[in-house]
Amino acid sequence: IKKIGVLTSGGDSPGMNAAIRSVVRTCAYMKVDCVGIYRGYQGMIEGDFKPMDARSVNNIINKGGTILKSARCDDFRTPEGRKKAYEQLQAEGIDAFVVIGGDGSFTGAMVFNQEYHFPIIGIPGTIDNDIFGTSNTVGFDTAMNTVVDVIDKIRDTASSHNRLFFVEVMGRDVGHIALNVGVGAGAEEILIPEANRGLERLLESLKRSKKSGKSSSIVVVAEGDKIGKSVFELKEYVEEHLPIYDVRVSVLGHMQRGGSPSCYDRVLASRMGVKAVESLLEGQTNFMVGIQNNKIILTPISKAIKGHTKIDKELIRVSEIMTT
Ligand code: ADP
Repeated sequence: IKKIGVLTSGGDSPGMNAAIRSVVRTCAYMKVDCVGIYRGYQGMIEGDFKPMDARSVNNIINKGGTILKSARCDDFRTPEGRKKAYEQLQAEGIDAFVVIGGDGSFTGAMVFNQEYHFPIIGIPGTIDNDIFGTSNTVGFDTAMNTVVDVIDKIRDTASSHNRLFFVEVMGRDVGHIALNVGVGAGAEEILIPEANRGLERLLESLKRSKKSGKSSSIVVVAEGDKIGKSVFELKEYVEEHLPIYDVRVSVLGHMQRGGSPSCYDRVLASRMGVKAVESLLEGQTNFMVGIQNNKIILTPISKAIKGHTKIDKELIRVSEIMTT
């Protein structure tokens, strides 16, 4: 392998730049060429490439987003689209790539590898932490810190006005962000898809906490929560069944994907980038780099896209005790 491409694809996450930087610098260290592929698979198909050296990635470790831009690309889902991508990579002399993204991006890479035997390695970059084979994805820690910070602020205003807030956080169909920030920000209740305890229990808990003298409350709701109501419907439901509360809703949205990455995410991304390039150079392909018990490991990409990291049962128990 003489020339490695690097791209960011799918939903962005804080720390992607640190991962790009690490891939580029490891290539420089190993004396192989590195090419930035812009706008994910779309840029691959269009040949939107730029050679990168160690200096191309100065001053980006602290930046959110991705300097390579990210995109979703329907053409790459078709054999014709992938053929174009292959031809562009051939023309540029790129003979392996590192894709930083989520399970969709990994699926694309795997399909591409099957068709063209093209060496690929994935680095998990998503705030949702919904990828098997790693206890942390790049961006998850930053997103949790961002959300805790915001909930602390919401708490200030909630307590000034004796209000109940439903705060919806991201996470797609898993509750990792919600559970962790719920515990970390001291939420009254945490609604996650992995533990749906129903509306009755929510009302009971809110009643109990009001009785015990609490005047304001925060309920963290995962966007993939299975309680069967949107946060706005939850507000209406509680107002109707428990008129003692003045209820407000806050849907945090895309701010959760932005911001300067945490130290943890920067270090994680740096470690993963090194492993990705080293693995390709050792002849490994079709793996995702992950972290387990603070060790950097490889997981077959086919396994990574199939499962989710299981929600931490012990943390669910802690959350139940904390919300008593
Ligand atoms: P994420 O990587 O964050 O999960 P997406 O699911 O949007 O984001 O996937 C990113 C891109 O990966 C898609 O826009 C598409 O180009 C490519 N991709 C996803 N699934 C496939 C697939 N089954 N075959 C080929 N390419 C795919």
